Amino acid sequence: MAYATTNPYTNETLATFAEIGDEELDRAIGTAQATFESWRTRSFDERAQVVKRAAQILRDRPDDFARLLTLEMGKLFGESRGEVDLAASILDYYADNAEEFLAPERVATEDPQAGEAVVVSDPIGVLFGVQPWNFPYYQLARFAAPNLMAGNVVMVKHASIVPQSAAAFESLFREAGAPEGAYTNVYANKDQVTRAIRDPRVRGVALTGSEGAGASVAAQAGEELKKSTLELGGSDALIVLGDADLDVSVERALWGRLNNAGQSCVAAKRIIVVEEVADEFLRRFSEGFARLRAGDPFDSATTLPPLSSQSAADDLQELVDEAEEHGATVVTPGDPVPEEGAFAQPRIITGLTRDNPVYDKEFFGPVALFFRAEDEEDAVRIANDSTFGLGGSVFTEDIARGAEIARRIDTGMVFVNHPTWTRPSLPFGGTKRSGYGEELSAAGIQEFVNKKLINVMPTG
Ligand code: NAP
Repeated sequence: MAYATTNPYTNETLATFAEIGDEELDRAIGTAQATFESWRTRSFDERAQVVKRAAQILRDRPDDFARLLTLEMGKLFGESRGEVDLAASILDYYADNAEEFLAPERVATEDPQAGEAVVVSDPIGVLFGVQPWNFPYYQLARFAAPNLMAGNVVMVKHASIVPQSAAAFESLFREAGAPEGAYTNVYANKDQVTRAIRDPRVRGVALTGSEGAGASVAAQAGEELKKSTLELGGSDALIVLGDADLDVSVERALWGRLNNAGQSCVAAKRIIVVEEVADEFLRRFSEGFARLRAGDPFDSATTLPPLSSQSAADDLQELVDEAEEHGATVVTPGDPVPEEGAFAQPRIITGLTRDNPVYDKEFFGPVALFFRAEDEEDAVRIANDSTFGLGGSVFTEDIARGAEIARRIDTGMVFVNHPTWTRPSLPFGGTKRSGYGEELSAAGIQEFVNKKLINVMPTG
């Protein structure tokens, strides 16, 4: 796990960063623990001042923050600016609402002898976050904002390919007035993640990333009897019914599959279209792929940036090859992408059958899996035939029917007439092999608090 900035547009390594030492990590946990004791006593207003100031700094200097994302993981610069703004919104959202979300709740008791009962939400302490590179700031905001506002303190091990973005977020909180130890970035390796989880001062762990990383971290947390949340991969279905507005559904499906160069956990990776409109949908969808313009992610004319790294591009190509070797059809609608840089060729794969070894794999890039469904029933069947259960969507002009189908899809989030997306106020989380626990919304701030009952009895 060497921490390095490698520009995926050129594959040039621009800077490397030393890993933290074990003793330094232990000291950082100690500082975080000491800060927790004072941070927890601050009022919601005092904590909100710091968090809101951080949001304001992001809004004051969006390009400075956005530039690092584009440099380190190749995101289109316009999308990087959008992510900076989204991170600021999440910080503001929890600064504005945390006190209400965590307000003491009175419990009605049927027994007059039971006295007054109230449940309060106490912070629990130092939390350790393991985060992925695909939305470097958004992920950090999702973890840090609710937990800092709840009175916890956070430590983060970010992905090793985004070290400067990781450091920028820590500096952001220091500049906003957070005390040392409230938000700590650590360049830790896997053994040190284990070391942190095993440290009794660390009280919980939140991981966003792949199934393998999630299983490993959750197992360690389980052995230590510590709470964990896991936001893992997905292979969201986007269902198009016969009555859907094709202009809208094609346009939104293209966005759902291709935003962030297709490297989103909630990307519309499986496009499922009922037979009666499948040919027309596929024709227009392929035209959208053919229109993509690969190039420099800092150039506003580019619509297809490189993937986050050469290894990400190679891994995706391997999946495409494997799909084809086992009988799927791979279509390449556009021009070849540049050979230099971590570019992935946009593709549409049809005829992927259950027995294909990549059927349940996550295609993390500009590759769409296209399925024809006999009818609505068949579309729901295909959508649910996945080991993942993150998001999904249904396109139809009949809103009530769309909402009914949404109820039948076995995932954590379903959208009607829009691919899965995210807002600070919408709960975000999955089921099945996409993980457990919620982030964002009123639910996200409840994960790492102690719901403590206080029951006051009359003496007479
Ligand atoms: P990854 O390899 O699991 O990496 C994610 C983070 O975990 C990185 O910080 C990584 O560190 C660390 N890590 C990896 N293996 C570890 C282990 N055994 N022990 C401790 N830490 C470990 O995932 P990725 O491929 O970079 O990220 C993409 C994945 O994240 C996709 O599956 C995507 O769907 C998922 N994701 C899910 C959500 C969601 O909310 N559900 C959101 C975004 C992304 P290094 O970088 O140093 O290896």
